[in-house]
Amino acid sequence: MNGRAWMLAAVLLAAFLANGVAPSAAAGPATEAVPAGGDPAVATDARVAGDDERTRLVLDLSRRVPLGAFTLADPYRVVVDMPDVIFTLSPSVGSEGRGLISAYRFGLFAPGKARLVIDTAGPVKIDKAFVLDPVDGQPARLVVDLVKTDRASFLKEVAAPVQRALRAPPPSETAADSGDPRPVIVLDPGHGGIDSGAINAVAGINEKKVVLDIAMVLRDKLAATGRYRPVMTRETDTFVPLGERVRIARDNRARLFISLHADSLSARAGDARGATIYTLSDRASDAEAQRLADDENKADMIAGLDLSEEPDDVAGILLDLAQRETRNFSAQFARTLAGGVANAARMHKSPLKSAGFKVLKAPDVPSVLFELGYLSSTRDLELMTSDDWRSKVTDAMVAAIDAYFASRAPDGSPAALPQGPAQAGRSVAGAGVRAEPAAIRP
Ligand SMILES: [Zn+2]
Repeated sequence: MNGRAWMLAAVLLAAFLANGVAPSAAAGPATEAVPAGGDPAVATDARVAGDDERTRLVLDLSRRVPLGAFTLADPYRVVVDMPDVIFTLSPSVGSEGRGLISAYRFGLFAPGKARLVIDTAGPVKIDKAFVLDPVDGQPARLVVDLVKTDRASFLKEVAAPVQRALRAPPPSETAADSGDPRPVIVLDPGHGGIDSGAINAVAGINEKKVVLDIAMVLRDKLAATGRYRPVMTRETDTFVPLGERVRIARDNRARLFISLHADSLSARAGDARGATIYTLSDRASDAEAQRLADDENKADMIAGLDLSEEPDDVAGILLDLAQRETRNFSAQFARTLAGGVANAARMHKSPLKSAGFKVLKAPDVPSVLFELGYLSSTRDLELMTSDDWRSKVTDAMVAAIDAYFASRAPDGSPAALPQGPAQAGRSVAGAGVRAEPAAIRP
């Protein structure tokens, strides 16, 4: 970024901090200055009208809210940020668009910050974005007018600097230096907030809710054993970027990372059922695993993050070495978990698979992604939302975690494990060598 761009970023950031909403890079018409405050506004309905030249999206609200709108490229998106809004719309609203809008979604992006993300069929310009007062019994209405444009004009208005500011994650509380010797287990309920994950439209149930419910039960059980320190990547219905989930695991020096999901299948893919446990691999174990990883890796794009800003994480030979060890432990835990859960829940016909999931990429934390079942299967859905099933499966998970750590007890574990790259990286940067035991030992 050159000096001028930095200045622009600083100005935009200052405006963002002052208003609590992201300003529009296009300036002028796309930003409304209405003071926030009071109870959260409630969004009750949304609709799209128009054609391939000009398309309007309308969101009904209980009152006016301030808003900021900006655009993102690759894929083409329009993002509208607002303060806290409660969305009471059906989860399937927005799955189909019209005209320039191919789909849209909404939800919490961060605490106190709501977001609407519009996928567009091609480059668009935000012609207007404003909120109308309630009038004659009509609710307040948020209106976004988009008009067709060309790629070059679109790119000129993309708001990358704002995204950069928004992406900087707040420092998370870490248990790393607490002096507590119990292993940290990071539980990662997938999706959240604006990213609903899979949706069973018939039952009106979202993946983000199903996996948060079971993660909370598991957290309480792990804490109750007194043997582990469970840490959640989210405890509420809020969005957490994939990289942030990995960072939480690394910052806490987690000895295990378990991401929880409940996938959905299109009708043509058949009526698959059962649980699957995924580990990280460069090449997917089969086409289904590849498709799932592609879907799960879209989470940041879905929430309106600028993917061109993907940080280039740590790299190098040290990393490869530790990664290999981490992968061995991940695979070992995956097998233990599959064996244990098989007694409590129905497993997929091939329950152990692998693919390039971004969320499993902590090089020094053994990580698995547990697909509890398929939201698209009525029977799986019934089970996954029942207390009885949740209780049995989380008991089996605790037992599998116990078995895994028992097989890796300090006295019985391989002695010559390499250090985790987080530590190795720090050693290089700090020109010192860590003398502590291997950080990646589970
Ligand atoms: Zn998922």
